Amino acid sequence: MDYKLKIGFQGEKGAYSDMAIDGLYPDQAVEKLPYRTAYDVIEALKKDQINFGLLPIENSIIGPITHTYDLLLENKLKIAREIIIPIHHALLTAPGVKLSDLKRVYSHPAAIAQCEMFIRTMKNVDILPTYDTAGSAKIIAEQRLHDTGAIAGAGAAALYGLSVVQENIEDYPHNQTRFLLLSVEDIQFDQEEYVPSKVSGVFDTLDQPGMLFHVLEIFNKHKVNLTSIASRPNKTEPWKYHFFIDMDGHLGDENITNAFSEIKKMSGFIHAFGSYPKYLPKDQQTRQQGPAKKAAGKPSGPLYSLSYRKEPTIVEVGNVRIGGGSMVMIAGPCSVEGRQQMMETAKIVSEHGADLLRGGAFKPRTSPYSFQGLGVEGLRLMREAREAFGLPIVTEVLAVEELAVCAEYADVLQIGARNMQNFVLLREVGKTGKPVLLKRGLMATVKELLMSAEYILAAGNPHVILCERGIRTFETATRNTLDIAAVPVLKEQTHLPVIVDPSHATGVASLIEPVSKAAVAVGADGLMVEVHFNPSTALSDAEQALDERAFKSLMQAVKKLTDRMKS
Ligand code: PEP
Ligand code: MN
Repeated sequence: MDYKLKIGFQGEKGAYSDMAIDGLYPDQAVEKLPYRTAYDVIEALKKDQINFGLLPIENSIIGPITHTYDLLLENKLKIAREIIIPIHHALLTAPGVKLSDLKRVYSHPAAIAQCEMFIRTMKNVDILPTYDTAGSAKIIAEQRLHDTGAIAGAGAAALYGLSVVQENIEDYPHNQTRFLLLSVEDIQFDQEEYVPSKVSGVFDTLDQPGMLFHVLEIFNKHKVNLTSIASRPNKTEPWKYHFFIDMDGHLGDENITNAFSEIKKMSGFIHAFGSYPKYLPKDQQTRQQGPAKKAAGKPSGPLYSLSYRKEPTIVEVGNVRIGGGSMVMIAGPCSVEGRQQMMETAKIVSEHGADLLRGGAFKPRTSPYSFQGLGVEGLRLMREAREAFGLPIVTEVLAVEELAVCAEYADVLQIGARNMQNFVLLREVGKTGKPVLLKRGLMATVKELLMSAEYILAAGNPHVILCERGIRTFETATRNTLDIAAVPVLKEQTHLPVIVDPSHATGVASLIEPVSKAAVAVGADGLMVEVHFNPSTALSDAEQALDERAFKSLMQAVKKLTDRMKS
């Protein structure tokens, strides 16, 4: 696979951040993308233009890089890795320029501060801050400046055709900077791979005497080893602070979980930026851990993402293949109501070419007094229909307690809109390894749908089909509002198959055919519709049920359109 991890950094080629990325990925070709500001790096992360962003967080001479702390908190970023690299600054000039020719020196303010003593020796030279160390070298080279120097890494000299006038000009020879590899996704890696690991977080205290002491006391009580604490102003309330902390351990450790929940009760706000492998100097790196190991063999990023997997996922159910531009039809009643209804309806959908049979045995109904489904009896009837008509079956699982029996009967487990964020259920269906049809929640964003899919994928089940089924808006003409753009949006972000349910999206039988055509046109991999042999008698969702004539017409319309799109 020609996959390359994309990592954004602040500065120009040859900047220290660029070197830190090489340190993190010594054996892997990664695409390093320079950005003018740290803010731009975070924006690129949020737009999924890069897999990770790398920013400096602390320097051993000048201390915290405060802007990175602020960005961490503002964007609730996740830390995937850290690395510490030695920083040796050099004074660079155009070839032939002498120290005495210099009228000014450009560099990043952090580098200027680390070379304070050397700079003091440069009389009558203006020291001017710029956006980057290597960027300063670049300016001098591009503008052919012969009276200006740059403080940057010696490596930048070769990159920009400059000479090194003086090396190791930093105030202390053991100058080092710690960098963080950041992500916007909450990716949890296995704890075993994190030995040793670290957790970073932030908390606030109430404005009362002794509160900081009490928080620290909780860490002490739970034997959490805090390795650093830094305060940053809470920008909205003068003279109040956020406290950033690092500790040894993993967020899965009991002592850390307990300390966090106790602090939460007391001060109200504590947030973790994730667990990540603690950086070890080269001579101690016997087993480097976590995402490094993963990234070395396999691409990183959320499992649903196209950066993780480029090829479309094809979910196979019996002989049916869903995904990669398929047009699969899932049809059947809203609920299984009885043998005659199930068999008659299955006959209709099978005769007119459906690929899978749907039907709800456990029904999520808005009112507790409405028909709740036949339960296991419904599953048995579906199995009978599958045997009679040879169609694999899709049925909704409402609760963890019903999962075992649903998984025994169903070919595809449906997670309904109301359960899209039932994370416990998502994890459990993930463990079954059965194909899952995950419906978008009524009030869920596309991102939230993808993160719910991530739960299933992360539990080890790659067979996930996403379903757009309409969302709640102010519009009442239709039952929900079909977010048709969600289909191409999802296609730009995930390799998972995407289908559309026009029945729940519109709630009106007559709208299903036109809306289905739109779904086909925007590239859905399939449709799921409700059909009933006699809609007027349906015990649930009668208004949106297609009768035989309407289903036949829908199948013909879809076929006509897919044929046209192929030619
Ligand atoms: C269904 O498909 O049976 C159903 C209940 O749909 P949703 O979860 O989308 O409301
Ligand atoms: Mn329904």
